Amino acid sequence: PPADLGPARAALREVFGFDSFRGVQDQVVARVLAGESTLAVMPTGAGKSLTYQLPATMMHGTCVVVSPLIALMHDQLRSARANGIAAATLTSADSDWRETMDAFRRGDLDLLYVAPERASQPQFRDLLASTRIALFAIDEAHCVSEWGHDFRPDYRQLRPLMDAFPDVPRLALTATADAHTRSDILAQLGIPESGLIVAGFDRPNIRYAIRHRDNPARQVAALMAEQPGPGIVYAPTRARVEKLAEQLAAATGRSVLPYHAGLPPEQRAANQAAFVASEDMVIVATIAFGMGIDKPDVRFVAHAGIPKSIEAYYQETGRAGRDGDPAQAVMLWGVSDFATARQRLTEVEESRRQSERQRLDALAGLVETPGCRRTVLLRHFGEHPAERCGNCDNCLSPPSVTDATELARKLLSA
Ligand code: ADP
Ligand code: MG
Repeated sequence: PPADLGPARAALREVFGFDSFRGVQDQVVARVLAGESTLAVMPTGAGKSLTYQLPATMMHGTCVVVSPLIALMHDQLRSARANGIAAATLTSADSDWRETMDAFRRGDLDLLYVAPERASQPQFRDLLASTRIALFAIDEAHCVSEWGHDFRPDYRQLRPLMDAFPDVPRLALTATADAHTRSDILAQLGIPESGLIVAGFDRPNIRYAIRHRDNPARQVAALMAEQPGPGIVYAPTRARVEKLAEQLAAATGRSVLPYHAGLPPEQRAANQAAFVASEDMVIVATIAFGMGIDKPDVRFVAHAGIPKSIEAYYQETGRAGRDGDPAQAVMLWGVSDFATARQRLTEVEESRRQSERQRLDALAGLVETPGCRRTVLLRHFGEHPAERCGNCDNCLSPPSVTDATELARKLLSA
């Protein structure tokens, strides 16, 4: 029987201050409260965290949340605590382990965030057995699948751990799974096929454009002039991040900061904080930037080189326009990007080469299409969209036949 969502709506208002559920949140919450294991595939920014945080405040026992990045966990911890939810993390960056474990054993925690590495530790299993677990929430669940774009072997240890607690429901969450990855996640985590809930992937306020790259600094500067407000520019290497940030600052006179793993942690944190607080800053970054950043008013995301896959493209561009206002996603690609990526394929392990090649081919299909970009994107995620969206470069100014043939020729020769 479907759970009565009345108490959940009350908690939504009291704990989170929201008037209504968004998208499929109510369906997911209802399943979780009914104790049914679920895989929820919801786009970035759709509000996945709430689907376990809210039940965690209502259920008897602690919700154990598995999350792949310490930075992500600490962001979540801050926002959960800001809402008055009893939450803690057990990570290598924490010094208050003893207090956390004591609070957990007393049953005082609604949420306990842990890294997947914990799952394989017998002491951790013992810790879980010492109190009542209400729910296992597995964030970024595509990490469990070799078909996903970010496989983490430690996620494979979650199944045996959860199997030791057969009465505890499981909630797996991801933004980026294609059909193949979805069924793999279900199988790997022991969730029935009937437990799959997929939200719509369309982000209608994002205008997609994919252009040939000739002079990235000039092209991004033009985008900045056309589209005011905060923006993220992804560049493939640290060196290109640094250079592009300098060029853009010089060309536009705007505040443009770099972000990559080679910067000292304090400077990275400072640049990120400045970006989140700013109303017109542009950050040039490697893909190390963005996971877990909650900035609703990002007005554009530019790629100065091809992303790793359609999934990565969707996730990265999905950081634009979360407030629902118009935003742009512009990818600048070069033939050399595909040549480099194909070259890299030869270095990939045999077992993964086929799926990596498919991923690259799918991305080439998106770059090369003379048709609607959104249609290609949404079909990739298993949806059946209209033929034309009216809000991408190819819908707004259809390419000529010669342009399209020329593009296909370039890509084939890469
Ligand atoms: P995801 O993990 O799916 O990318 P998050 O869980 O980080 O998304 O949520 C994105 C933003 O949406 C957060 O700022 C969150 O507070 C907000 N949000 C979530 N659910 C609702 C809701 N029902 N109403 C309004 N805002 C919401
Ligand atoms: Mg999330």
